[in-house]
Amino acid sequence: MLHQVDQLLDRLLPPRCLLCQAPVGANCCAGCRRDLPWLQHAGRLHAALAYEYPVDRLIARAKFGGRRDCARVLGEWLAADLLASRASPWPELIIPVPLHPRRLADRGYNQSEDIARPLAAATGARIDLRSCRRLRDTPEQSRLSASERRRNLRGAFSAGPGIAGRRVAMVDDVITTGSTMAALARSLLDAGAASVEAWAVARTQPGRNR
Ligand SMILES: [Zn+2]
Repeated sequence: MLHQVDQLLDRLLPPRCLLCQAPVGANCCAGCRRDLPWLQHAGRLHAALAYEYPVDRLIARAKFGGRRDCARVLGEWLAADLLASRASPWPELIIPVPLHPRRLADRGYNQSEDIARPLAAATGARIDLRSCRRLRDTPEQSRLSASERRRNLRGAFSAGPGIAGRRVAMVDDVITTGSTMAALARSLLDAGAASVEAWAVARTQPGRNR
């Protein structure tokens, strides 16, 4: 209910910067955007930003605060960063990391799906919400060690026949140890994916944040 009021207010009030509240008529002003902790990158794992202030706050709002507008802005940043840093060919399918149905029912939406929408618009890839399922509702991972996370996630995902022969990109909000993406990638490759890459808004930096 609070989320709906929040969303209604967002629609009625003039748009303000998510970060500094300046009435810029856009989701985030150019100054705040320039000051974000952008990362350098290469390879099959692409994370746009360091998981630190203010990105961590925006991700928390997108995940736990019902702020789907934040998820969309995060997706726009990731899309802009991908477009700026590599060329096509883009993957054919985008797989937002699935939530377990029980968690999806609690939250009402999957933030990774909202993040994926601007990515699909930017690359022409299709969002596939049918082919992958989360079979087990794994507990919040943040307090587990890397090996505990891997064990926790074994067999957590299943991928269907729609994946066979496809170039696939997985999309998540934040990569910490990478064990979630690794478990999902394993199930996609088992289902015959031609290639799998991982896209995330943010990544925790080794030696920082923890
Ligand atoms: Zn601003």
